Amino acid sequence: MSFAKASVRDAPVAGSRVLVRVDFNVPLDAGEVADETRVRAALPTIELLRERGAALILVSHLDRPKGPDPALSMAPVAARLEELLGSGVALAPAVVGTEVMELAEGLEAGDLLMLENSRFEPGETANDATLARGLAALADLYVDDAFGAAHRAHATTEGVAHLLPAYAGLLLEREVRELTAVRDDPARPLCVVLGGAKVSGKVGVIERFLGTADEILIGGAMCFSFFSAQGIAVGDSLSDEKSTEVAARILERAEGSSCDLVLPVDLVVGRELDAGTEVRELDGVEVPEGWTGLDIGPRTASRYADRVAVAGTVFWNGPMGAFELEPFAGGTRTVAEAVAATPATTVVGGGDSAAALDAFGLADRVDWLSTGGGASLELMEGRKLPGVEALMDADRIGSRS
Ligand code: ADP
Ligand code: MG
Repeated sequence: MSFAKASVRDAPVAGSRVLVRVDFNVPLDAGEVADETRVRAALPTIELLRERGAALILVSHLDRPKGPDPALSMAPVAARLEELLGSGVALAPAVVGTEVMELAEGLEAGDLLMLENSRFEPGETANDATLARGLAALADLYVDDAFGAAHRAHATTEGVAHLLPAYAGLLLEREVRELTAVRDDPARPLCVVLGGAKVSGKVGVIERFLGTADEILIGGAMCFSFFSAQGIAVGDSLSDEKSTEVAARILERAEGSSCDLVLPVDLVVGRELDAGTEVRELDGVEVPEGWTGLDIGPRTASRYADRVAVAGTVFWNGPMGAFELEPFAGGTRTVAEAVAATPATTVVGGGDSAAALDAFGLADRVDWLSTGGGASLELMEGRKLPGVEALMDADRIGSRS
């Protein structure tokens, strides 16, 4: 599978200042990085650039502040990166501006400067040209390694990429290659496992896969939109009118497709979303009044596991139930174990799916664990990612300065 964008491996970086867009949008807990997966994922690009004599200016967003917010400073992330690299990471007081410029100008080969949370600047999400120019002024080159943010046309992902020679980082390139291979050239049968909370964010991907996958196995709360569309009682389960309409449309399309759209045949229900709640296994899918469907049942889970076991390729996005609570973790665990054990090529996307694999100790048993939730789905749908599109084409290296 060819990747058409210029790679950081071919960038002339020695003696240069390189602005690197990373995805350090990590969960924080009491002011500490609670999960460093995304920080680790950026290390190969950071190390490559340092070995080749570049000075690095790192920029990322963290959560969704509406302006400067000390609770969402990059400080804990800079501290964690320092530990991982075993060398200093300076933290800039802002994203752009005179002080930041002075710090950038003082950098020497191998030095690292982390800019403050890019969302402290309102121009970030607005893809503001002035902010993009301020960022571009800090560096000679731009490298994008933030696959998880590549579906957003923001100043740090898209705007600035048009103002500097712009290259793909190692992680971004690998993500695009792995996901594109599953989308365009999967070993058959292609088994797509979809779960999670809402059907709305995943409509595009379901519609696309109806045309290309051999089977789509549905779990998570989204199955209730399908049941509701079929006139089956869903009790208090998550589903609304709009997603029911969407599900009805998908069911109609599935009729005429050669893809098998598979729904649960049994469920685990609870009185409420709580680990200590009253729990029942339903041998069927009709949810009684006063109950909420919170996991696929054991028969469904083992059916899904059987399909995963004989697949050529498995793409999984979204947990099968409210796996964070032990009484409702069984379906996700069974599917995760099947994904870990199958000889198929396995690709998993989505923050919560990754967290589930992690919780079961299976994260290193899949072929590719994507760091991008929304970005991986948009790529799978066949949509162009603005952060990737804005990079230089591989055959045009050197033509932009
Ligand atoms: P991902 O991050 O992997 O893309 P989503 O964000 O779409 O996944 O959904 C993950 C969330 O969905 C989890 O927090 C999980 O608890 C929740 N979930 C899954 N099944 C159900 C259900 N039946 N009822 C309520 N929440 C559910
Ligand atoms: Mg999620």
